[in-house]
Amino acid sequence: MNVAHMFERNALRSGAEPGVAIGGETFCSHALLAGRAARLGGWMRSRAGLEPGARVAIILTNRAEYIETALACWWAGLAAVPVNARLHPHELAFAIAHSEAGLVVSEERFTASLDCACRVLTVDAADYRHALEADPIALMPRDQDDLAWLFYTSGTTGRPKGAMITHGNIRAMTYSYFIDIDTIGEGDAIFHAAPLSHGSGLYMFPHAARGAVQVVPESGGFDPLEIEHGIARRPGTTMFAAPTMVKRLTRHVREHGGDWRNLKTVVYGGAPMYLADLDEAHATFGHRFAQLYGQGESPMTITALDKAAHANTGHPRYRERLQSAGTAQTVVEVRIGDAQGLALPKGERGEIMARGASVVPGYWRDPEATRRTMGDGWLRTGDVGEMDEDGFVTLKDRSKDLIISGGTNVYPREVEEVLLRHAGIREVSVIGIPDPEWGERIVACIVEASPTEDCELDRHCLDHIARFKRPKTYLRLTGLPKNNYGKVLKTELRARFAET
Ligand code: AMP
Repeated sequence: MNVAHMFERNALRSGAEPGVAIGGETFCSHALLAGRAARLGGWMRSRAGLEPGARVAIILTNRAEYIETALACWWAGLAAVPVNARLHPHELAFAIAHSEAGLVVSEERFTASLDCACRVLTVDAADYRHALEADPIALMPRDQDDLAWLFYTSGTTGRPKGAMITHGNIRAMTYSYFIDIDTIGEGDAIFHAAPLSHGSGLYMFPHAARGAVQVVPESGGFDPLEIEHGIARRPGTTMFAAPTMVKRLTRHVREHGGDWRNLKTVVYGGAPMYLADLDEAHATFGHRFAQLYGQGESPMTITALDKAAHANTGHPRYRERLQSAGTAQTVVEVRIGDAQGLALPKGERGEIMARGASVVPGYWRDPEATRRTMGDGWLRTGDVGEMDEDGFVTLKDRSKDLIISGGTNVYPREVEEVLLRHAGIREVSVIGIPDPEWGERIVACIVEASPTEDCELDRHCLDHIARFKRPKTYLRLTGLPKNNYGKVLKTELRARFAET
């Protein structure tokens, strides 16, 4: 079944109700959304010449056109490749080329620096308006194994990998939401303040399944005041937020108050939530929080800690449970595995593994990584954790090198490779240091070949990688600590940094 059916159903059942809104203003009804997507999808197939299964890269900020473009892809039997618009042009070019996208849909402010051979449709130009006048296409049937969303994750080897999220994976995630995360009522809303290319975009589906309104902020970004005003006008609103966003929102409410009665649920995830921050969020908003743990390879669906668990203050293990990521979601089995992937006894630490309907079948054009990561059906998440007697999973560490800053993954290797291209740097190791604001701060430990200035290294990074991936601090050392195999000891570097 095509995931676009969820949207078509709304158009048929309650077509006049709001489908997409920009802040407090309705942008289009469910019927109009489906109609626009059918026309845009028709244009993609007949005018842009895309065959079923072809990929369409979406490089947009959170805006109404994002939702109709993604829906147009599914409607017309194409696969969406949502790429974070904040990435560096080199990184965008990689995703476009690697996915062999036949079309890129973007905005004027990004198109000038886009490096791609294929056709580009610019949503704020006349071409897009003309595309919306094309003949509508009938909703294209899709099988559950067909590719719906190619989700590029940063690879530990520095090269991003495309997790192939199928129509079946999205359906499984949608069902699991209602069992494991929260309920959604018809006429409720989701406020997309977090990037649609990631978790917030995936949560379009459970909300579409219940006929809820998809709300995008006018600014296209995360602005607490704008969120406050948007939510004040929409009863039953849910938001997906990274822990850093929850912290910013909490601080905003503590300082400015506001009317938050319509905020029904905040689903947080994507990075560890510190208990002190959750305590403050509870004290400010009450028990309106749910947590998910997932990754591109099992979108939004590995474990969950629902609102009831957050509110169950009388439970003897309440605080421990708040620190966990909850229990396995309904559509997956979760276990803690040893180095061979064999299940470890309860309480022992190992790699978190998952198997089930939400786990992707593999990586796009990368059979070797597919075999290594989910070859036997069990997804190796690369996250280290423990499971207690009651099935609650606590993440102890991540695969050693991944840094999560502001809810976004940064792989040190990628930053290291760029820094090593600078003539003044002989050796480098990039680590994440706990930071109350960002979760983790990126620190580059460098051994110089010749004297360097921070600002010059900063400029060098900005020339090659996304702004958010550049180190915030440079630590100059005479040598890097290494083990007998010549591998850099990052734990020792972290300890050394703590002493400075
Ligand atoms: P991504 O594939 O970009 O969604 O990143 C997935 C990674 O984010 C996971 O493998 C975890 O390391 C981390 N992550 C996701 N959810 C949580 C959570 N609830 N608590 C801690 N870390 C999380």
